[in-house]
Amino acid sequence: MKVMLHEMSWTEAKEYFKKNDIAIFPVGSNEQHGPQNPLGTDHLIAKAVAEETAKRTGVLCLQVIPFGVSSHHRQFWGTIYVSPETFKNYVKEVCLALNYYGVRKIVIVNGHGGNLYALTEMARELREKGVFVSIFQWWPAANKLLPDLFKPEERRHATAEETSVNLALHPQIVDMNKAVDEEPRKHILQAEGITLPLDTVDYTSSGVFGKSTAASLEKGKKVFEAVVNELVKHVKLLKEAKIEDLLQKPKV
Ligand SMILES: [Zn+2]
Repeated sequence: MKVMLHEMSWTEAKEYFKKNDIAIFPVGSNEQHGPQNPLGTDHLIAKAVAEETAKRTGVLCLQVIPFGVSSHHRQFWGTIYVSPETFKNYVKEVCLALNYYGVRKIVIVNGHGGNLYALTEMARELREKGVFVSIFQWWPAANKLLPDLFKPEERRHATAEETSVNLALHPQIVDMNKAVDEEPRKHILQAEGITLPLDTVDYTSSGVFGKSTAASLEKGKKVFEAVVNELVKHVKLLKEAKIEDLLQKPKV
């Protein structure tokens, strides 16, 4: 059975949409991930997690959106980004196109933390329109599911955890000879409760926010399996849930 929308014909898509009101939609970014990882890390991982979940659940999966909200990485070459408004509207319009065919439950698999604010806003707007969108991010899931697999400094941007998942999924585009460990710099104004409008380059020269040399393919496989299992559970629950129970409640 096909699960990728772009591999189906329109008649096959019609058959799916007549029987199902749920879809999986991966989004990510194209941004620096240190000297050892591909720029596509965030969208490639989101795509792999989404596609594997789709295969295991029989739920339709869309193509990944590769560009996201990552202007804060732009000083590192090859980072391609769009504004939060453009990203939000693009993702929203794709969701509404799905809704035209009867889809009312959408699981967004987000591979890049910088997209979350725009996605959350969009999900709230769509709930008002009768479409329920949940957002899954693999790294907070892995942190809870496998708390002992990595140290805190190995769980940040472009460090061992992300590099390990890349090694498990596409080792041919990871160069461990270039992996570095770099402790992010503290800004002079940094203090508890303060958020600063800084870029990645303000913190790190390599793009790595901690230790990446501890990455391994085996650890990456463990993370991938754990997060896909968790997402499969969520997709099954969402599939069974009644849309009326998910939408906005009336005034009390
Ligand atoms: Zn990343």
